[in-house]
Amino acid sequence: MDTKAFKRSLNKSEQYYRNQGFGQKDEIAGQMKTEYESSLIQQLRDQQYKLVQGDVTIYLAEAFGFCWGVERAVAMAYEARQHFPEQRIWITNEIIHNPEVNRQLRQMAVQFIELVDGQKDFSGVQSGDVVILPAFGASVQEMQLLNDRGCTIVDTTCPWVSKVWNTVEKHKKHEFTSIIHGKYQHEETVATSSFADKYLVVLNLEEAEYVADYILNGGDRADFLSRFKDAHSAGFDPDIDLDQVGIANQTTMLKGETEQIGKLFERTMLKKYGPQNLSQHFQSFNTICDATQERQDAMFNLVDIDVDLIVVIGGFNSSNTTHLQEIAIERGIPSYHIDSAARIGPGNQIEHKPLHQSLTSSADWLPSGPIAIGITSGASTPDRSVAEVIEKIFELKAGASVGTLVG
Ligand code: SF4
Repeated sequence: MDTKAFKRSLNKSEQYYRNQGFGQKDEIAGQMKTEYESSLIQQLRDQQYKLVQGDVTIYLAEAFGFCWGVERAVAMAYEARQHFPEQRIWITNEIIHNPEVNRQLRQMAVQFIELVDGQKDFSGVQSGDVVILPAFGASVQEMQLLNDRGCTIVDTTCPWVSKVWNTVEKHKKHEFTSIIHGKYQHEETVATSSFADKYLVVLNLEEAEYVADYILNGGDRADFLSRFKDAHSAGFDPDIDLDQVGIANQTTMLKGETEQIGKLFERTMLKKYGPQNLSQHFQSFNTICDATQERQDAMFNLVDIDVDLIVVIGGFNSSNTTHLQEIAIERGIPSYHIDSAARIGPGNQIEHKPLHQSLTSSADWLPSGPIAIGITSGASTPDRSVAEVIEKIFELKAGASVGTLVG
């Protein structure tokens, strides 16, 4: 499929809305403010991200929560509801990985395309329906299906994600294989790989090192293919398709790791083909999103403060939130990943998701006495959710001072 030609024709279609919005920004601004913003968080911002109440000192990361790409996507979805009051509106996936935002959209009668046997079920979508594509994009095949069905498409794909797609298009044009640093089953990576011709998804540096070693020294082809099962393009052959490689990434991966992977393949190709031939075998463009980078940098600053524990707030399937927690874990700081304040309590308990594990409940998570807590949140978490967590902690510790909290 000529993905570039298809996108060009889609851009010209009157049924396709991308950057222009609907001119109802002011009307929805008030609604978004009420639903997602918080005066407590504003207070924290005004006080250099530190707040002391009773025994508790809260340190808030200096970059956290909603990124502009997410804010833009949510605003576009709200505007679409206003602009098409009568039409049925669908969204191909969670608009962002945040349960509260998705609940609000459901309340506005936005329907979600459900998964049936692991596949998205578009059978209910009819001509004339409006379909919103989420911030992390949709595969080109999905866009084509919706376009062919005569739907109005409201595309909220973040421009940073589109930038990665353009990079993959460049790889394709020069017959390079795209090595995508990401999770092969993540919606953004599924969308990105749909624009590629040949691709291989590597999850981390360890997988990248395996591939680099294969490039330099060869190896067991069957083992390679089984190791990257589901993470490569159809018909991918490691003995042929790793001759020319370009780097792309899921925008929410750890920035430092993406850079290390890029450098690893650059070194590998340099070693194999020599400096004079490098550009014929390796391509790399900077596609790391600013917002992801800022949140990770702020987290590195937060772990340098002497905090007793860190609470990371964000959807459990949110990749950028998980990466923030990884930073706390690397520093050996106790950390709790929760998706909302409702996970705290009853009493001094917390239901949270340890990295790569299922939900678990921990008792006595807040120690008695003075405590310093670091707080951060992923790019899809509204300020309001963060404020609710802080308020709950204050409440719990205030209860402790009258003897209800142990630890
Ligand atoms: S994290 Fe970055 S790529 Fe993702 S929506 Fe936000 S700004 Fe866009």
